Amino acid sequence: MNPVTVVWSMIAAACLTLAAVHLPVWWRNREARATLAFTLAATSTAAIAILELQLLNSRSVAAYAETLKWGHVPVALMMISLAAFAYHYLDADWPWLAIGGLALRLVSLVLDFTTGVNINYLEITRLHDFTLLGERVAAPEGVPNPWMAIAQLGVILLALFLARATVMTWRRGRRAVAVFVGCSLTFYLAAGACQAFLVYWGLVPAAPSTLSLFSLGVVVVMGYALSVDLLRARRLVLDLREREEEANLAADAANLGIWTRYIARDEIRASDKWRELFGFRPGEQVGTDQVLARIHVDDRATFAKRLTQAAREHGGYQSEFRLVLPDGRLRWIAALGRIDFDARGRALRSRGACIDITARKNTEQEMLRLRQDIAHVSRVSVMGQLASNLAHEINQPLGAILRNAEAATLILQKPAPDLQEIDAILEDIRNDDQRAGEVVDRMRTMLRRRELAMAPLDCGQVLGDVAALLRADAAARHVGLELAVPADLPAVRGDRVQIQQVLLNLILNAMDALDGLDDQSRFVAVTARRQETQGVEISVADSGPGIPADQLERIFEPFVTTKTQGIGMGLSISRGIVETHGGRLRAENNAGRGATFRFTLPLAG
Ligand code: ADP
Repeated sequence: MNPVTVVWSMIAAACLTLAAVHLPVWWRNREARATLAFTLAATSTAAIAILELQLLNSRSVAAYAETLKWGHVPVALMMISLAAFAYHYLDADWPWLAIGGLALRLVSLVLDFTTGVNINYLEITRLHDFTLLGERVAAPEGVPNPWMAIAQLGVILLALFLARATVMTWRRGRRAVAVFVGCSLTFYLAAGACQAFLVYWGLVPAAPSTLSLFSLGVVVVMGYALSVDLLRARRLVLDLREREEEANLAADAANLGIWTRYIARDEIRASDKWRELFGFRPGEQVGTDQVLARIHVDDRATFAKRLTQAAREHGGYQSEFRLVLPDGRLRWIAALGRIDFDARGRALRSRGACIDITARKNTEQEMLRLRQDIAHVSRVSVMGQLASNLAHEINQPLGAILRNAEAATLILQKPAPDLQEIDAILEDIRNDDQRAGEVVDRMRTMLRRRELAMAPLDCGQVLGDVAALLRADAAARHVGLELAVPADLPAVRGDRVQIQQVLLNLILNAMDALDGLDDQSRFVAVTARRQETQGVEISVADSGPGIPADQLERIFEPFVTTKTQGIGMGLSISRGIVETHGGRLRAENNAGRGATFRFTLPLAG
C-alpha cells in the first residue's frame, strides 16, 4: 500500500476511533458540549481525510471536481464544531463573528452545488502529477470560481472569532489555555485557509490540497484540551475525597452525625456516626419515613413543622427532639440543617448535622428537679412561719363549732325545741367547718411536693387565696393588707402554687420590712394590672424603709439576707419561678417611702 493511502487512512481511522470514544461520554453527560463539538470535529476530519484521499488518487477531472464539491460538506461541519468548541471551552466574546463566519460558510455550501463545478473552480482544466511522501498524487489546475471569496471570507471571520476568544482567555488569567488551545486552533485554521487560498486561486501552481493534516491538528488540540480537563477533574475528585475524609474525621471527633437527603428520590446518605445515633445499621436503606418513625411521637409534629418552615423561608432550621431507638432507649438529638434549592427555587436536597445531647438534657432535667425541691423546701419553711397564725385561723371556726354544738344540745333538752333555731345553728356549723377545711386545703396545697403544672389562672382568685393564708399573720402584726385587682383582668398562664409562693415571699418580706414602724403607717398593697405588651403585672408595695440602692440587685442572689433568722433564698427562688414563667422580677424604691417588687405573667391566650 502506498504511504499516502496509509497516512490518510490512519488519520481517518484515528479520528473515527476518537469520535466513537467521546460520543458515549457526551451521551452520559449532556452538559459537556465541548465533548460533543470534539466528536463532531473528529468525525468531520475522518470524512475530510477519506474524501481527500480520493482527490489525491484521482485520475479523472470530472471525478476530482465531484469529490471536491462533496468535500465542502464535512469542511462546513468541521467549522461548526470548531466554533462550538471555542464558544464552550475558551472565554469567547463577539459571537456575531462566529455566526457571520458560519452563515457565509453555509451560503458558500449552496454556491458549491449551484455555481461552477464546485465553489473552487468554474472549470478544472487538468490534473498535474505531484510527488507527496515519494508518491505521485493529483494536483488540480483550472479557472477559479470567484464565489470562492465568500467561503474564504467566512473562514477569515471564524479565525478572527478564535483570535478574539484567545485574547479574552488570556486576559481572564487562563494563560496556558490561551497559548496551547486558543493559539493552536487559530494557527491550524489560518494555515489550512492559507493553503487552500494559495492552491485554489492558482498562486502556487500544481500543488495538492492537504486539508486533513490541518484538520487533524485541530482535532489533536481539542483532544489535548479535553484530556487536560479530564486530568484536572480527576485531581479535583481526589482533592474532594480527601476534604470529605477530613470533614468526616472532624465530625466524628466532635461526635457529629452528618447527613444529606436527596429530596426528589427521597434517599438519605449519612455518615456512620449518624447511623449509629439514629440506630440504623451500616448500609441499611434509609428514607424520610424511617427517620420520622424513629422520632418520638410527641416531637414528630414540631420537627416536621420546622422542616416545612425552612423550606418555605428558604432558610436553615434548628431542632431538638427525642429518638426512640430499636431497643426502646430514648436519645435526645440536637439537629442543625439547611435546604438547598435550584435556580428555579425547587428544593433539591437538605443536609445537616446531628449531635447526641442526652447527657445535657438529663442534667437540665435534674437541675429542674433540684430547683423544684428547693422551692418546695422553701414553701414548707414559709408555711412553718405562718403555722401558729394559721392554727389560730383553724381554731376560730373549730371553737365556734364547739360553741354552736353546745347551744344546740341545750335547745334540744327543752321540752319543745325550736327546730328553726337548730337549723340556723347547723348552717353556722357547716359554714365554720367549710372555713376550717379551706384553710387546711390551702396549707396542704402549699406543702405538697408536685411537678410544675402550667394552666390558665384567675389573678383575683390566686391573690385571694394568698391573702386568706396571710390574713391572720397580717392581723397579728398590725399590717394593713390591701388587694387591688380589676374585675375584667384577663386570665394569665402559670403554675398556681408557684405563683402563690412568689406572692407569699414578697408579702412576708414586705411585712418584715415594716417591723419597728408605728401602726398607722404599716401597710402592704398588692396590685394587678393589665400591661400593653407583656400580659399582667403584679406589684407588691410596702411602706417600709426601702432597699439601699446598691443592694437592689444583690438581694436576688442566693443567701443574701439582712435578717437574723433569714436564709436569703426567698427572692432568688422567686426570681427563678418568675423566669420559668417567661417574666422578670424586679425591685425598686418608691418615690415616697418603701419598696415595690414587680413581675409580669403572660396572658393565658
Ligand atoms: P430572707 O427573707 O431570708 O432574708 P430573701 O431573699 O427573701 O431572703 O430577701 C433577701 C433580703 O432582701 C432581705 O434580707 C431584705 O434585706 C431584703 N428585702 C426583701 N424584701 C424587702 C422589702 N420589701 N423591703 C426592704 N428590704 C427587703
